[in-house]
Amino acid sequence: MNSASNKKIILHIDPDPRITNLLKKVSMHYHTHIVRVSSGQEGLYLIKEIQPHLIISEFHTTDLDGRSLLHKFMNDIEFGEYRHIPFLFLSDQETRTKYSKICFDLGLMGWFSKPFSDRELGEILENFIMANEINRKNRNLRQEVKRSEYRYRDLLENVNDFIFRLDDKGRFSDLNNRFHSLTGWEKDKWLGEKFLSLIDPADRPSASEHYQMAYQGRARIFEAKILGNSNRSSMLSFNISPIIERGKIVGSIGIARDVTEQKKMEREILDLKNFNESIIQSMEAGLLTTDLEGHITSLNAGGEKILGWKARSVIGKQIKSVLKPEEVAFLLSKSPLPGTLPYSRETELTIKTGKKIAIGFTTTNRINNQRKKVGTIISFRDISQLKQMQSEVIRMDRLASLGVLASGIAHEIKNPLAGIKTMAQACDEEFDENDPRREYLTRIVRQVNRLDDLLKTFFAYARPKPPNRKQHQLSEILREVITLVSKRLTNSGITYHENFHPDIPKLMIDSQQFQQVFLNLILNAVEAMPSGGTLTISANRIGKSEKGIIQRNNKSKNKFMNGSHVEIIVSDTGTGIDYDKLETIFDPFFTTKSNGTGLGLSIVYRIVEEHQGDIRVESRIGSGTSFKITLPTGD
Ligand code: ADP
Ligand code: MG
Repeated sequence: MNSASNKKIILHIDPDPRITNLLKKVSMHYHTHIVRVSSGQEGLYLIKEIQPHLIISEFHTTDLDGRSLLHKFMNDIEFGEYRHIPFLFLSDQETRTKYSKICFDLGLMGWFSKPFSDRELGEILENFIMANEINRKNRNLRQEVKRSEYRYRDLLENVNDFIFRLDDKGRFSDLNNRFHSLTGWEKDKWLGEKFLSLIDPADRPSASEHYQMAYQGRARIFEAKILGNSNRSSMLSFNISPIIERGKIVGSIGIARDVTEQKKMEREILDLKNFNESIIQSMEAGLLTTDLEGHITSLNAGGEKILGWKARSVIGKQIKSVLKPEEVAFLLSKSPLPGTLPYSRETELTIKTGKKIAIGFTTTNRINNQRKKVGTIISFRDISQLKQMQSEVIRMDRLASLGVLASGIAHEIKNPLAGIKTMAQACDEEFDENDPRREYLTRIVRQVNRLDDLLKTFFAYARPKPPNRKQHQLSEILREVITLVSKRLTNSGITYHENFHPDIPKLMIDSQQFQQVFLNLILNAVEAMPSGGTLTISANRIGKSEKGIIQRNNKSKNKFMNGSHVEIIVSDTGTGIDYDKLETIFDPFFTTKSNGTGLGLSIVYRIVEEHQGDIRVESRIGSGTSFKITLPTGD
């Protein structure tokens, strides 16, 4: 076949061999092979057989004339695939004039009238051979283009993405098959329709903005809901890029993917995340998480409240820089019990204010999807209130048993003391008026009286009388106490302030016992201010409406939550009390004074308790102490 060799095959249909010789001579340099036949029929047959590059025919062959030869070649189906082969006629001038129009109309490529010179024939051949070559290449290229167009069309039509083209006015000029399955619309009906008409009206403004930008030459990715046929609607992610031809934007091409399911899942995950977060944020317990390097990765609202740190100020920081390193070491240490269940432990933490608080906590590993440890979760509770309550219970226990003991001993002492006193008084009567020994007896009696006073205090503590409750105005009870101590106050250089709210109601209290309460507190204050200072006693009524405040102050005790109450504060600017002694000052016999009994505050404590009240202390070394008593108003 001709394609195997590079030879150009020329089919020469001519009864006269002379032209063939001439052809051979002029085409010597072109690597040609010339096949000559005399008959037109035979020529037609050979076309299929040898597939020549050029057909040169004498108009008059032995059988067919040029017209019917050309007609057959141009019109018979069997020559369809050879019709690109250039066909030339040779004849005398007369024939050419007569038939050239009709033959050129049929598709003839050229006509040469005899006679012609070698050179003319040579040039003609060369031109045709070259033209033919170019044609063949073009044809191949065209076929290649067609084939790849088909390939791409096929690809575009059948991909799972929706692919479309918009013209410069934003109208669909091309839509692939996916359009139909996605929207339910017939795609032909949408050709020429505006892109924006497909978008849900709610998403139109933003979609419009994005695709306008594509028309300014930038590729855009955005999401929008589309309106499908019969209530079908999907969320698509669009990617629209401009089509630029010779520097001008002539339209755009878009690829869109159905992200409805993905969006739904995203929303579900988000919902779940929000749900989890709201649980974590709303719980009272603190939750702190760290990564493997010990950086804090989260702190919930409960944790913020307990530690006093805001999450945003600690996230990203080393936990050791926020809490004390030795505390952190304990928090993160392995719990001594093996097993997977979180094990609850207790410790003390130094919070932002520098205060130490007691917490109960559990430490667990944070695990990722691959079940690998990625950090630590510490969950903790503020148990200082609980601790305080526990110690109150212990103290009350101790008070009770000490009370029994003390009252027994006191009794045993009281009787002999009475004996001593009577004897001393009897002796006194025996001596002369000026007898110096009488002085000894006075001293004995004085010391006995002191012991007696002490015993009375003991009894007040150990065998308290049940309160004899009547309606009393607090300010009046206080007035009597102040009259008693006013001299001591001035002598010690202490300024006294009283700050009573005008509408403090009368309270059902034992006035004697409350005198004792005030007296004990005031004396302690005076003793704490040896070189002067200020003593302030204030009272306020806290109504039901301010429950919130009460709740915050008395988290552990909600005995005041359902009614109004009165708050009495006795504060001084004295020495203050050590933090670690605050716990014990209410204990009986706890004293820091050389001549103290250590009973004052324990009596105060019990009286307040018996009136269903509550007492708290706040103190700072060097700046003073305040005692806060809370009493129910009874309404
Ligand atoms: P006493 O006064 O006999 O020592 P209290 O029970 O009245 O016994 O007080 C116990 C201790 O509490 C005192 O010794 C003192 O250390 C401390 N204390 C009480 N009130 C105050 C105060 N206002 N300022 C400083 N320390 C106080
Ligand atoms: Mg005292």
